[in-house]
Amino acid sequence: MAEIVFLGSGGGRFQMVGQYFKTGGFRIHTGVNVHVDPGPGALLLTHQYGLNPLELDGIVVTHSHPDHYTDAEVLIEAMTKHSTKKRGALVCSESVINGVGDYGPAVSKYHQRKPEKLAILNPGEKFRLNNLEMEAVKAKHSDPTTFGLILRTDEGTIGYTSDTQYFEGIAKYYEGVRILIANVTRPLSMRIPWHLCSDDLIKMLTEIKPELVVMIHMGMMFLKHEPKMEAARITSETNVETIPGQVGLRVNMGKEIKINRPIRQPVLEEFARLKLEIFSGAE
Ligand SMILES: [Zn+2]
Repeated sequence: MAEIVFLGSGGGRFQMVGQYFKTGGFRIHTGVNVHVDPGPGALLLTHQYGLNPLELDGIVVTHSHPDHYTDAEVLIEAMTKHSTKKRGALVCSESVINGVGDYGPAVSKYHQRKPEKLAILNPGEKFRLNNLEMEAVKAKHSDPTTFGLILRTDEGTIGYTSDTQYFEGIAKYYEGVRILIANVTRPLSMRIPWHLCSDDLIKMLTEIKPELVVMIHMGMMFLKHEPKMEAARITSETNVETIPGQVGLRVNMGKEIKINRPIRQPVLEEFARLKLEIFSGAE
């Protein structure tokens, strides 16, 4: 059984500061435990949703934007048992480790040395952690070293777009995935540079047919365009089951895919709706 636990479904500068949908990334548990893109709140949400940061075996940071990396160092300290044991793997884009142009480095040299393994992935390169194989795939984002991720488990493949804009051929990287985790920053066709909007996802889903799509990294416009309604629209236009991510959402991938929503809606998501009137249109 492979399990994905979502620790947020928000992204972009405004959601990151507002924390309406949270920005802790997600964890995958499949014999090994890996935290992907631990943005602000990742450590706190790990505890709040009953997970143990000391049980991590790997941390992936796909690029040097703070909604994806801020909690990486504290999770490295957890993964290495409070920095007392050289263990686990840190898997990153080039910018996160060395800095590229104006981006990164996002993890200090001190923390880069703590894990047992450090891997910088470029598109097409793979890294194996026991029975989990990770492959970086092309993304087109403002940090030029950003990668999307293919996660191959014994139960099947999971795709994660990370932050990218739509480009010709993007869908083929995700061919055959059972679950697609899509960073959809804007609803409808409200496209902005470097990011996907819902209609870009619809275009991808004309070429690939995962069993389930989970939308995350949703920006401020999703406070106006209810994520559930957008997901329903995508489902009806593509015949691919699409759901909005949500902090605490668990998806289990065995023979079948099972969706377990958290029992209680986080208070802040309700609060977010009340703030619609003062919101004036940023991503
Ligand atoms: Zn980004």
